[in-house]
Amino acid sequence: MSGLPPHVAEALKAAAEPKGWTEDEDTLAPYLTEWRGRWTGTTPLMLSPATTAEAAKIVAICAEHGVAITPQGGNTGLVGGSTPQGEVLVSLRRMKSVRAVDPLNDAMTVEAGVTLAAAQEAAAEADRLFPLSLAAEGSATVGGAVSTNAGGVAVLRYGMMRDLVLGIEAVLPDGRIYEGLRTLRKDNTGYDLKQAFIGAEGTLGLVTAATLKLFPRPAARAVAFAALDDVDAAVKLLALAKTESGGAVTGFEILPRPVLELVLAHFDTARDPLSAPHPWYVLIEMSFGREDGARETMEAALAAGVEAGLVRDAAIARSEADAEAFWRLRELAPEAEKADGKAIKHDVSVPVAAMPALYETGCAAVAAIAPTARVLCFGHVGDGNFHFNIAPPKPDAGDFWDRQEAITQAVHDAAASLGGSISAEHGVGVMKKDEIARRKSAVEMDMMRAIKRALDPANIMNPRVML
Ligand SMILES: Cc1cc2nc3c(=O)[nH]c(=O)nc-3n(C[C@H](O)[C@H](O)[C@H](O)COP(=O)(O)OP(=O)(O)OC[C@H]3O[C@@H](n4cnc5c(N)ncnc54)[C@H](O)[C@@H]3O)c2cc1C
Repeated sequence: MSGLPPHVAEALKAAAEPKGWTEDEDTLAPYLTEWRGRWTGTTPLMLSPATTAEAAKIVAICAEHGVAITPQGGNTGLVGGSTPQGEVLVSLRRMKSVRAVDPLNDAMTVEAGVTLAAAQEAAAEADRLFPLSLAAEGSATVGGAVSTNAGGVAVLRYGMMRDLVLGIEAVLPDGRIYEGLRTLRKDNTGYDLKQAFIGAEGTLGLVTAATLKLFPRPAARAVAFAALDDVDAAVKLLALAKTESGGAVTGFEILPRPVLELVLAHFDTARDPLSAPHPWYVLIEMSFGREDGARETMEAALAAGVEAGLVRDAAIARSEADAEAFWRLRELAPEAEKADGKAIKHDVSVPVAAMPALYETGCAAVAAIAPTARVLCFGHVGDGNFHFNIAPPKPDAGDFWDRQEAITQAVHDAAASLGGSISAEHGVGVMKKDEIARRKSAVEMDMMRAIKRALDPANIMNPRVML
């Protein structure tokens, strides 16, 4: 057990007894590899506390002995932040109680290991909506989503995790418990401390529970799959759909033909809803408080889009099964890309109106470096967020990967030149650590480091991540 003195290991195991630890290599294996296999790690010991008290005890022992911790939820993060490299791994997956669902306050309190899908179900049982939704929601946990400030497909209407958290309970790096589980909508009593843990990627403590905002469940939705010529048309159609529907647009996702083709090629159940190919597609979802007029509103928005020369063809879902099938085309995009092979991934955002410029500038810059590279770009138009992924040509000429760093810099430069971010929703992890140090101002980096030093002076919480 390298790096972990036996008496410390024994104390940690005792704190997590009886089922909350393992050193078994086979059991550990799935916790030590990132979803795409890009990072593989090691740990002397995985601890899985079942309660906040156990988690606090584990962190206190680590603090006393200067033992570094990597926190982990569902291990679906995409920037390498949950893969330990010799640290003790603390998995929050056993903390999965729904502590309270409070429909009158439109709030619920769940523990960190509750998956996003389970949180959605708990809300639905109380006839409420917990809106955070993303393709990995069956495995991604509330603790992980808080720690990465996750986004997903409903940000346009409901915001990111930061907008959905009312309160947080966390174990600080010295083992004390911050009890910040509140259902207050207004609380101006100083610094909003919970915000420090949202998007902190485990660097400031272990999130053990969160109180989340709930919403009325829409009574009806209309979902359409529309074909367009370019990204410019998508941005204009979004504005038009918002106006035509009186703000009912809850999802507006984009994918180009090559990504749709990958989905169709890799998933037998996927079907192109339209009869002829087009360069770009958007998936539009509108949500309504009542059934009446839902389909008509979508039809009116699409008709206005056709009239304005934006929409080339469109299909409106006739049933929930159709709607699900349309959504699957977008949700399967990451998995289809994974099945296609390795690609250089970017998660960039710009102001919504700058998305066409981002696409054009980014493509031109990539083409100047690797003319035969494939741009497999999809994302969330409503949030100005492109997953700007660059795949090697087919067949791979072999020298594509030598240009990886230049390609990444070109895409990030394109986003930065338009006032954008190099990490829209996936976080920093180990993947973008050097990049944020280069691109954020010295003042911003100093402020981040000062917060880290103040809460974690011994640097035991996810020490290789973010800073
Ligand atoms: C197919 C697929 C699609 C995805 N789509 C999206 C998307 O649309 N939008 C989006 O935002 N993300 C997306 N992601 C990324 C990922 O699902 C999210 O970042 C998710 O929030 C991570 O949750 P997790 O429980 O798996 O966290 P993990 O991967 O386990 O951890 C992520 C980070 O948070 C830290 N952490 C985890 N739990 C805790 C805790 N309790 N306390 C403190 N730190 C903790 C870890 O140390 C790590 O740094 C996708 C991932 C996949 C695989």
